[in-house]
Amino acid sequence: QVPPGAPSLPQSGQNGGVPVSAHKLIDGKAAAARVLLQVREDVARLHGQAIQPALAVILVGSDPASQVYVRNKILRAEEVGIRSVEHRLPSDTSTEQLLILIGQLNADPAIHGILLQLPLPAQMDELRALEAIAPDKDVDGFHSQNVGGLSQGRAVLTPCTPSGCLYLLEQTCGDLRGKHAVVIGRSNIVGKPMAALLLKADCSVTVLHSRSHDAQALCRQADIVIAAVGRARLIDASWLKPGAVVIDVGINRIDDDGRSRLVGDVDFDSALPHVAAITPVPGGVGPMTIAFLMKNTVAAALAQHHALRSQSEAVCHSIY
Ligand code: NAD
Repeated sequence: QVPPGAPSLPQSGQNGGVPVSAHKLIDGKAAAARVLLQVREDVARLHGQAIQPALAVILVGSDPASQVYVRNKILRAEEVGIRSVEHRLPSDTSTEQLLILIGQLNADPAIHGILLQLPLPAQMDELRALEAIAPDKDVDGFHSQNVGGLSQGRAVLTPCTPSGCLYLLEQTCGDLRGKHAVVIGRSNIVGKPMAALLLKADCSVTVLHSRSHDAQALCRQADIVIAAVGRARLIDASWLKPGAVVIDVGINRIDDDGRSRLVGDVDFDSALPHVAAITPVPGGVGPMTIAFLMKNTVAAALAQHHALRSQSEAVCHSIY
């Protein structure tokens, strides 16, 4: 997700005066627009079957960045025809109070997806809250049932950012089978699900993290690099094999000559001459996250509708 005040795609000539070669840029905005177009068509089909996909978004507290993220998610949902319901709770909400709301949303058949905006205020138990969301409404894919399902290679609701990264890689590289992918970062939100998705796509996967020895040399062996570290411009050309494809998940705000701006985990200017393709920051992975949230909401609505239909068919069968 692109944070507040994010500038648009790097322009030609922004690369320290050297023109950015457009063919090397993986355009996340254009890719997200394609995904959202498909979602809009799927929603229209569901409307035709009298199904109104609906997403509940829960925001606890008043973190400014979270407020912007939530507003963007709700705007995007409206654009594609998904009904959204916002629940704002004060920052002193207890975990128990949040669990009551989640329980109500779980039981509401008109709500198909539940998104709990993270981070929660410090006094709250994040894991307990995420585990309370019904797995079939868990559009962020953070419930342990969905995490386990993904690691078994089953079709489950999958975290939005890594799903968006995989989409960009498939569009850029075509067949991913047998490629060596290095994922830098092992968070539950990005690194681990990314590694699971790449394994499912038949890549050979290496996961690097803060305790890895010789991370740079290992990374240099990769055909595909996914950087999800949260360290501004950590990865420069010396980490990259010539011709690698690079997906930069990092969003880091830096002070650049007194002006605040966003950069990724990859040193874009250093990497660009070495790579076959790279995502810019912003305008790369960010837009994909919301697009896949919408895609997951539609998938959840469809799955719940099918489950309901087979349940009622089973009841009819047992009656007659
Ligand atoms: P995190 O802090 O939870 O995890 C960072 C990971 O990086 C850890 O696993 C750590 O072991 C690893 N790491 C730290 N230093 C390292 C080093 N020197 N070498 C190798 N590994 C190292 O972060 P996260 O939630 O996974 O997010 C990572 C970045 O991605 C952040 O910049 C975040 O803002 C961004 N992000 C972007 C989106 C998006 O939509 N574009 C979504 C989620 C996160």
